[in-house]
Amino acid sequence: MRLGIDIGGTKTAALVLDAAGEVVAHVAAPSGHGTAQTLSTAVDVADRAAAEVGGWGEIDHVGACMPGLVDPETGWARHAVNLSVQSLDLAGGIEAATGRRPHVDNDVKAAALGAHHAVRPHVPAGTTAYLNVGTGLAAAFVHRGRVVRGAGGAAGEIGHIPVGTGIPCSCGQEGCLETIASGTALLRLWPRPAGELFPAASAGDEHAGDVVATLAHGIALAVQVLVVTGAEVVVIGGGLARDRHELEEAIGADISRRAAVSPFLRRLDLVSRVVVLEGGVPVAAIGAALLPGQIEQVGVGV
Ligand SMILES: [Zn+2]
Repeated sequence: MRLGIDIGGTKTAALVLDAAGEVVAHVAAPSGHGTAQTLSTAVDVADRAAAEVGGWGEIDHVGACMPGLVDPETGWARHAVNLSVQSLDLAGGIEAATGRRPHVDNDVKAAALGAHHAVRPHVPAGTTAYLNVGTGLAAAFVHRGRVVRGAGGAAGEIGHIPVGTGIPCSCGQEGCLETIASGTALLRLWPRPAGELFPAASAGDEHAGDVVATLAHGIALAVQVLVVTGAEVVVIGGGLARDRHELEEAIGADISRRAAVSPFLRRLDLVSRVVVLEGGVPVAAIGAALLPGQIEQVGVGV
């Protein structure tokens, strides 16, 4: 069996996949903050998940993911700002506590692997992109069951492509895609509680409708970038997009409006390539479990 650990900004989860790739144990706890607590919480949930299936002796492979710059070669993680972690020997720390050295990666890259695994039975694709619309905007590709890394691990980092919005971005550039398609964008565009946006838009509030249209346009552009760079399917997840059927509709409307005047866009057939992830599918933890040897070894093909 495989054990995957996902250290998120608010929650740390561990799960176990059986040989068929089904989730057979799933444990979660609030994330720790700072290097020591982040690691001890991860080890604690991993121990509990392993115990649910009979102990570490039943686990053949271990993987872990977290935000920030994670180097799969050295096992170190850096700059996980939301966890107050500057630098952490993630693989070494888990190995010291459990006796098992995990394969590690960035959480969006692991989530791409998990998303590919989750949608593959329903939407066969050689290349899947996972688009995470959370506080920021980031994506990753899985090609034939393997995470595509690119130069310095930057493949899929589309949030910081300037698209001319004129808005200064935290990365030092101006007008990045993230400035109109992220939780940060939502905070700027909609100072009221986020939960009020979609009901207000549905009730005909013009400003709320404009904000939803702006976010949807940014996400639709992100989908377009991912498809023209090789994705056959784009799975959208992250706190902002998950379970937001209004947003899904608005993304479809944005694409359809632009495709109406563009044979090029119509050929890309973007609407049929989008899958919005339902809440509750722990794609990052599933992907973490699949990191060792990546997806081929669990029998779901390449
Ligand atoms: Zn930027």
